[in-house]
Amino acid sequence: MKLNVLLILSMLLSSIGIAQVSEYPHPVVGEIVDEISVENIERIVERLVAFHTRHTLSDTTHPDIGIGAARRWINREFDDYSRAAGGRLKVEYHRFIADPQPRIPEPTEIVNVVATLPGKLTGENERVYVISGHYDSRVSDIMDAESFSPGANDDATGTAVVMELARVMSNYEFDATIVFMAVAGEEQGLVGARQWATDAYRQGMNIRGMITNDIVGNIFGGNNIVDNTRMRVFSEGVSPYATDEELRRIVATGGENDSPSRQLARYVHEVSPQYITNFDVAMIYRRDRYLRGGDHIPFNELGYPAIRFTEMNENYNWQHQDVRIEEGIQYGDLPEFVDYEYTTNVARVNAAVLASLALAPPPPVNAGIDISRLEHHTTLRWEYDGTENPEGFYICIRETTASQWQRKIFISTDDAAVDNDTYRYTVKGVSKDNYIFGIQAVGENGLHSVTVFPDPVR
Ligand SMILES: [Zn+2]
Repeated sequence: MKLNVLLILSMLLSSIGIAQVSEYPHPVVGEIVDEISVENIERIVERLVAFHTRHTLSDTTHPDIGIGAARRWINREFDDYSRAAGGRLKVEYHRFIADPQPRIPEPTEIVNVVATLPGKLTGENERVYVISGHYDSRVSDIMDAESFSPGANDDATGTAVVMELARVMSNYEFDATIVFMAVAGEEQGLVGARQWATDAYRQGMNIRGMITNDIVGNIFGGNNIVDNTRMRVFSEGVSPYATDEELRRIVATGGENDSPSRQLARYVHEVSPQYITNFDVAMIYRRDRYLRGGDHIPFNELGYPAIRFTEMNENYNWQHQDVRIEEGIQYGDLPEFVDYEYTTNVARVNAAVLASLALAPPPPVNAGIDISRLEHHTTLRWEYDGTENPEGFYICIRETTASQWQRKIFISTDDAAVDNDTYRYTVKGVSKDNYIFGIQAVGENGLHSVTVFPDPVR
């Protein structure tokens, strides 16, 4: 049915001379991307703005105003999505008492609203991907919990992305588990996300990737640039928590640009254009913007691959500001400054990436690049401990100065196998001295994992 509509649409478009709708590399991922609804995203942002303020220290008992009313509404929405999908989402409040700290004067209950879509793989094979937006808001004074604080862009847009993905994706089955989180306390110091990440870490949760969507709705930059065709993905290069040994290895291999978070960003950059056209992902090689932070940082601090999605050109008049007019200029984070088509494109990028990751096989493990002798070839070795063997692997190659993989060589599992779960491939005539290498696992469905960066081995 859907295919027919697409076919007719592409015939119509080609008959009037517009570029054809291209076929998606994976039909289910494409279907999910197509189901993301701009109307729903607009409805969610408008509803969140209507709570007057969602400041973390605001009223928690009022039925219509404050952060308590907001989180109860988000929880009900998640429940509705789950019911419509046959109860497949596990919806819960993640509650804790935050100790007094610079932006929280007295012990305060912080509540994240979390919807989990369990994957088919459980136990030690379970992989978890996390997507978040923060539903708390702020105005000029970070301690002002009473004033009108619409937080339409920061971060009702990110919250709407997360909720819309939960609605659409809960109708599908994935290998991996996906956690959809609306978190609180971001503006008070990343408090909600940090506690959730810490609890997950203590439980030994196998988090393989985390994306925070924060400020993903404005196209009118304060620099007067209007751009609805690009978004940014921030990723850290070297973890400040890397051990001395890890640092020595990073320096020796030129691996400063190949951290797990950077590989996740590169995956976004590779997958997104296969599903979303006229919308570019700009990789920013930095953990976050200057003077600012986001909910991916507590995950980075615990060693998880985690990245941030943000609009291309921010407008500081419309963030963290009291709603007011001053010398004819409107300040405040108002919904009229949100471009919902733009936010929907960001949601589509999230959907393509998360669905691909959750349907793809896990990446190889113990990847190594053979440095036992001087030669003009490059030999890679790796192991695979997924539940079933993948179809094959991509050997990824790029120049040391290139941002993205420039060449990918497919090798079937049988051709790469050495013995049980151990694989090897030699790229003839390509010197390990001059290129960066990586390995991806490829499933029978054609979807591939994130890239692993090989360690030098003898
Ligand atoms: Zn924010």
